[in-house]
Amino acid sequence: MNEQLALAVRGRTDDLVALTTDLIRFPTVNPPGEAYTPCAEYIGRRLARSGFAIRYVRGEGAPGDSDRYPRTNVIARREGRAPGVTVHFNSHIDVVEAGDGWSVDPFAGKVRDGRVYGRGACDMKGGLAASIVAAEAFMAVYPDFPGAIEISGTADEESGGFGGVAYLAREGFFSKPRVDHVIIPEPLNKDRICLGHRGVWWAEIETHGAIAHGAMPFLGDSAIRHMGAVLHAFEEELFPALDRKETRMPVVPEGARRSTLNLNSVHGGQTEDFFPGLPAPNVADSCRLVLDRRFLIEENIAEVKGEVISILEKLKRERPKFDYAIRDLMEVLPLMTERDAPVPSAIAAGIREVFGKEPEYVISPGTYDQKHISRIGHLHDCVAYGPGILDLAHQPDEWVGIEDMVQSATVMAMSLDVLLRGARAPG
Ligand SMILES: [Zn+2]
Repeated sequence: MNEQLALAVRGRTDDLVALTTDLIRFPTVNPPGEAYTPCAEYIGRRLARSGFAIRYVRGEGAPGDSDRYPRTNVIARREGRAPGVTVHFNSHIDVVEAGDGWSVDPFAGKVRDGRVYGRGACDMKGGLAASIVAAEAFMAVYPDFPGAIEISGTADEESGGFGGVAYLAREGFFSKPRVDHVIIPEPLNKDRICLGHRGVWWAEIETHGAIAHGAMPFLGDSAIRHMGAVLHAFEEELFPALDRKETRMPVVPEGARRSTLNLNSVHGGQTEDFFPGLPAPNVADSCRLVLDRRFLIEENIAEVKGEVISILEKLKRERPKFDYAIRDLMEVLPLMTERDAPVPSAIAAGIREVFGKEPEYVISPGTYDQKHISRIGHLHDCVAYGPGILDLAHQPDEWVGIEDMVQSATVMAMSLDVLLRGARAPG
């Protein structure tokens, strides 16, 4: 155990708690993207005092960006004394809305019983604070370190990351040679390393029909009945087939170690918006279904789409007047960084030192900003690692444990030691 680093982090516990509290007090709720600028500037001022060069980059023109709600990102960089690699800690500063059911003020950052409470405490202002304190402790112990450390606070992760990491990746902030290794302190628990996520395909299927009077439906053709046939075929063929697909990806929770399909919404027939309660007297000429298919590293996107399209084509052959259109809404390929890549290896070494056990490797059921770093930045040595219990994210009375933050920050500081100084990990 590198006692010096561990003590340097532990000696900063009060500062770590104060920093987390301060960050929670910025109500960076997204949507709409409130208080991004003051929160980013707070992080920038803090890191400038620690010798970081600060840049603010607005995700100009990204969804939601406006002068009232600018998508403000902060990127801080501290050069070491000699050339070397760059390690980047990326945290999103946005939080989801507080919602109901809180027993404390969600934006006060209340400290009680060894925990800091508030919206974003766990997802992920506690992780951001831990990474800042880890870097500061590391720099205090090793002022002559080689390479560089970067810390960013970015916008919009909760809404897809378009004004945040995706925007910055397009500007070259997440590519070599600027950056070599990325750690995203999302709340995956202090002794787990998240290697990636499942893939996503969102699509809209529309069935077509012919409008007619509802009293004489035989004169028209119901798009809703056609969609009913689609749903029936999904139940009979697609859902059982997806349920049989198992993955070697260690997804948590375990229920997500299969392919899944969610039917997000169905919209069909004439709108009733203008006549509340009055039935629409027409045969539906259109019915739309939005689907959310999550897929595995063993599947490729062409076969994922092919399964759905072959069901639709079969209906077209067999069902009179059946016709459809299909539109892609979003695609994200599954991601899994190998366990022996530099970043997961360095974090694993830190976890062994701090907890005296092997890390647990996990995969997230849904995506996060790692997708942009991989797809746009072409940087693949990236994982999520940070304090906080994932299940508490987006819930009322969200909290992060102070001891969890200290231990996790210690692991991060030790990872810097391995990645920047080439410290050899025992075991
Ligand atoms: Zn998050």
